[in-house]
Amino acid sequence: MTMNSLKIFNTLSRQKEDFIPLNKNSIGMYVCGPTVYDDPHIGNARPLIVFDLVYRILTKIFGKDKINYVRNVTDIDDKIIQRANELKIDISELTKNVGDIFLSDCKYLNCLSPNNQPKATENIPGMIKMIENLLNKKFAYLKDGNVYFDVNKFPNYGKLSNKNPKELISGSRVEISELKNNPLDFVLWKPSKEKEPSWDSPWGKGRPGWHIECSVMAEKYLGKEFDLHCGGLDLIFPHHENEIAQSICSNESNIFAKYWMHNGYVTVDGKKMSKSDGNFITINNLKNNFNGQIVRLSILGTHYRQPLDWNLKILETNKKILENWYSFYTPESEEINDEIFNILLEDLNTPKFITTIHSIYNKAKAGDDSAKKDLNSALRFLGLFCESERQFNSLKQKSDLDLSEIENLVQQRNLARKNKDFKQADKIRFDLENKGIVIEDLNNNTTWKHK
Ligand SMILES: [Zn+2]
Repeated sequence: MTMNSLKIFNTLSRQKEDFIPLNKNSIGMYVCGPTVYDDPHIGNARPLIVFDLVYRILTKIFGKDKINYVRNVTDIDDKIIQRANELKIDISELTKNVGDIFLSDCKYLNCLSPNNQPKATENIPGMIKMIENLLNKKFAYLKDGNVYFDVNKFPNYGKLSNKNPKELISGSRVEISELKNNPLDFVLWKPSKEKEPSWDSPWGKGRPGWHIECSVMAEKYLGKEFDLHCGGLDLIFPHHENEIAQSICSNESNIFAKYWMHNGYVTVDGKKMSKSDGNFITINNLKNNFNGQIVRLSILGTHYRQPLDWNLKILETNKKILENWYSFYTPESEEINDEIFNILLEDLNTPKFITTIHSIYNKAKAGDDSAKKDLNSALRFLGLFCESERQFNSLKQKSDLDLSEIENLVQQRNLARKNKDFKQADKIRFDLENKGIVIEDLNNNTTWKHK
């Protein structure tokens, strides 16, 4: 069996295509990274893990030294300014803290480090240069210190989303402003308000729009045209659509990225995640109770383009599965064999890959030695089996209660608090504490951990 070629679903063409790099000796991959304003949540974990796997696949096919993997950090943004004001801390303190949590989350989820992790605030001169270029070429216009991109000048606008301008406007994520010629026009530079971070520019003190940073950082590290751009489905419009418009107009190139991959949405217990609904799961929350490999397997169990509904049951099921698989863990492992690897080459068919691992495990249980080897190599390729069995099990229950019992009691307590039955709420808290579980209430959100 030989290695097949990689096929991926390209959002731009809306079909599965063979991945043929522009230059197989120098492959560029750009992933839109986090906006560092709040603890990363389970919705952020999905692109991290999915595109980490894409990176691992490209590395295996083309060689690690041939891939330049860039993931940016958005460290200037309205949300950051707002959050820093709420917390009454300096913006740089907030972005440093959240950036550190993000990196520790990446480690917890066993994601490999990108080659470059540029920060927006370290690339402001490049952004000013690209904006000047767009103004000179009349793709942008200046109004009251704001610079806007003129969408009408780019005929292919809407190609990635496969929508015409009318449909895009009714999509409602368009900022309304009297300063704009067209509702779809988007900001490249805007004046900063008092006490907001600002940089000198030819248009006065201000700060860049969000989209321009990715265009500039992608070009800086990967050139005007590169192979693969990735992100969550919610970034297609307006973020990625705008990146394409800016880059192609500024660079006078035919393409920006050749292939676009987008992962699907994440819901929690069937609902959109929101802090007010109390179903907001940060990656940090999970660290206390689950090994990161369980989270990783739980995310990869659903195909990356499908919606993923997150719940405690998925975690518990995958915890048991990994515990079973770990009984065949060996410290050394061979390369994954091509027949198994080929499954991933079909647009990252992780569900089929995991089903295959289950049948390999069954063969290993029946005493098949080569199956034991395959199990180790396949799981390692997925970014699992990265710790010894002892390390993996070190988070095993320190409490007599199982997870669903704990969750059940926490919910009963939340209900009691909602009904202002504080006596009952305190009783549940006390009972849990006696069983080794500590409850924490923060910003309308209740979390728990082992003592
Ligand atoms: Zn981006």
